[in-house]
Amino acid sequence: MNATELSAREIARLVALRELSAVEVARAYLARREAVDARVRAFLHPAPADEVLRAARAVDEKVARGETPGPLAGVPVAVKDNISVEGRPLTCGSRILEGYRAPYSATAVRRLLAAGALVVGGANMDEFAMGSSTENSAYFPTHNPWDLARVPGGSSGGPAAAVAAQEAALALGSDTGGSVRQPAALCGVVGLKPTYGRVSRYGLVAFASSLDQIGPFARDVTDVALALSVIAGHDPMDATSAQVPVGDYVRAAEAGVRGLRIGVPRELVEADGIDGDVRELVAAALETLAERGAHVEECHLPTAATALEAYYVVAPAEASANLARFDGVRYGFRAAAGDLEAMYARTRGEGFGREVRRRIALGTFALSAGYREAYYLRAQRVRQKLLLDFQRAFARYDLLAAPTSPTVAFPLGERVEDPLSMYVNDICTIPASLAGLPAISVPCGFSGGLPVGLQLIGPAFAEETLFRAAGAYQDATSWHRRRPPLGGLAPAGGRRRG
Ligand code: GLN
Repeated sequence: MNATELSAREIARLVALRELSAVEVARAYLARREAVDARVRAFLHPAPADEVLRAARAVDEKVARGETPGPLAGVPVAVKDNISVEGRPLTCGSRILEGYRAPYSATAVRRLLAAGALVVGGANMDEFAMGSSTENSAYFPTHNPWDLARVPGGSSGGPAAAVAAQEAALALGSDTGGSVRQPAALCGVVGLKPTYGRVSRYGLVAFASSLDQIGPFARDVTDVALALSVIAGHDPMDATSAQVPVGDYVRAAEAGVRGLRIGVPRELVEADGIDGDVRELVAAALETLAERGAHVEECHLPTAATALEAYYVVAPAEASANLARFDGVRYGFRAAAGDLEAMYARTRGEGFGREVRRRIALGTFALSAGYREAYYLRAQRVRQKLLLDFQRAFARYDLLAAPTSPTVAFPLGERVEDPLSMYVNDICTIPASLAGLPAISVPCGFSGGLPVGLQLIGPAFAEETLFRAAGAYQDATSWHRRRPPLGGLAPAGGRRRG
């Protein structure tokens, strides 16, 4: 048995039973990384093998002492490079943080470690999480495991690719406008953006504070449910984390979809640029959910059509404020210059890449005297209207469904010079982000050999409902069992009827 073929849940169960040692798991995953990461390039900072093995040994010793090793005992986890792991490099995919190491661990990471997980490395990302392809990483792009000439999506392309390529069993990403869901869809894995406030952001480097959430990736729904149950819950270190009880997500993933009402917002399914195959596969997925007992019908979310524009004002505005702290004084890179002003200017000019500078310029403009009303406040009004749309929809439906991404993974280099074509990628994921709602992407088929994702959106803190539908869908299908053609075998998947 190769541990890279097991689910996180199975790994933890076998390690606790001493049928598999955490050291064996670590070795299998390190060997896998060795075999494929030169091609995939999921990791910016792969954890040194001896560190991973040392952590694995500690888990095995705990088991040997008869202690319970935790629900993620021996489970290898990749962590997006904007989430702090004490003592490890933390660059956010940016030159400006080159050489910086995290002084403490994020709460989500601490909870994973306490549950027995092994951090196997810092995963690649678009610089400061700005992008949809991971090509904005200042270091190198990550390659889609299904087709190495294509993007893995972004901004959490490294974590998604690491899980798809079986270099990690779980990963943590961050989602501000779709950065967990979209790369999950493009890499054929499951990715969840929890409700705003569900997971502590302590230790996550801020991009747009009214939108950012940490979210898990895995190869199946139950593993995402398990990961969420470990990282969710109130944290006094994050003032935006909510005092809402954490549900039994694993059980929800097995509870079935019978009786749930699912609305399909026309504005998200019929939006410009949605590929014909994507539309058909999502429609087929909804049929499967209906066969399993859900009531599916078309609905409306009128403001969704303008959500993209509002996001690309609000997110840059918040980013322009959050990124002010990178001035060459406190963190990472500092450019040499004669005086303080010149040092600030040169550090930021050389340390930030083009997309980050573009966002800072956009955001500063949108907040400047005379334009604030026309841009920022107007975008906030769109956000309010969108919230009302969702409220109305959730009065009738338990969940909403849509594609995750309008297209499958696109070729590396195709859109990176054209920011608008990159931004429209986010058309289906942004509405839930602006409204702070939980949303999950699950594999729902392939177009031209590339994975497609179904997105389910729930009311605030209704992650259990999301898991019911996502779990039922996965139970009816086997897309999630397909593995990318990187070498190493797994059973082929397809649709299972009935
Ligand atoms: N692609 C979107 C952006 O570039 C979303 C990024 C994210 O969710 N971090 O802003």
